Amino acid sequence: MDAWVLRESPGDYVLAAVPEPVLGAGDVRVKVITSALNHMDIWLTQGRPRPHLPHVPGCDVAGVVEEVGQDVRRDLLGAEVVVNPAVSCRRCRVCLSGESPLCREFQIVGEHRWGGHGASVVVPMENVSPRPQGLSWEQSAAFGLAGLTAWRMLRRGRLQAGETVLIVGVGGGVSSAALALAVHMGAHVVVTSRDPDKRATALERGAAQAVSSDDERWDVAADVVVESVGPATWDRSIRALRPGGRLVVCGGTSGPTVEVSLPRLFFKQHEIIGSTMGSYEEWAQVVELMNQGVPVAVDEVFELGDYPRALSRLHGADQLGKIVLRH
Ligand SMILES: [Zn+2]
Repeated sequence: MDAWVLRESPGDYVLAAVPEPVLGAGDVRVKVITSALNHMDIWLTQGRPRPHLPHVPGCDVAGVVEEVGQDVRRDLLGAEVVVNPAVSCRRCRVCLSGESPLCREFQIVGEHRWGGHGASVVVPMENVSPRPQGLSWEQSAAFGLAGLTAWRMLRRGRLQAGETVLIVGVGGGVSSAALALAVHMGAHVVVTSRDPDKRATALERGAAQAVSSDDERWDVAADVVVESVGPATWDRSIRALRPGGRLVVCGGTSGPTVEVSLPRLFFKQHEIIGSTMGSYEEWAQVVELMNQGVPVAVDEVFELGDYPRALSRLHGADQLGKIVLRH
């Protein structure tokens, strides 16, 4: 099959013919109709993390089931599906307790296994769900990893209706998904962005307040902060927390290391909570929320062959919402 492939890391993707991934007894092969970009696509080219090579990227996929393993119901053939990018063993104690991101065998489609920026992708049958009604193919590929990650973050942050949540750097995929989900939950949503156009769009999408990322201080008293930027915003994110507030972090697009002021942490009784991806139960909830009409923000759609141009848009951080490839 044709796919974008990484043959060395650090390195660059090339469009090439690669062998089709082998289909296991419990797997389905999904013919990809649309796939979406994530920062993972860029990090893999920088060798952090360094994938098993050769590697096909692409964490987010929507498509049609074109082949099923021997243990899979044949009526799944032809189903229009979205792919849950979080794969785990589904049998161990943590999986059965709903904490599958902590499973020892946890994998992300497009990182630890081949992803969807190619003709097809193979995943366990438990990792496909019917495509939400009312979403276009482009939107169907655009909510997976970001929506799942954002949903688990809001849950781990114990966000309640009426509470104030600060979403840092609203242009990113996880942040724009968090905005849609938190508005749907009835939270008071404050966002930050450097870009006035992104701030205006966030207000149109239900944010109550939008502050400039360039401000030295953010005048916010947040119950929950959703952080995915890291060192560039960390100090202001912590200062924006109310006493007893919870900061949930799923990544650091500006770098891996931050400084924590211990007196501020303990006097204010803040909680700093790590979060990554989501469980199968959380995935089902996200798909249900999409069926209920939570909006999905697509930034721009490129043809599959235009992947390098799509990557440079992601790299430039110009986007608001997800960048999608049409196959
Ligand atoms: Zn497990």
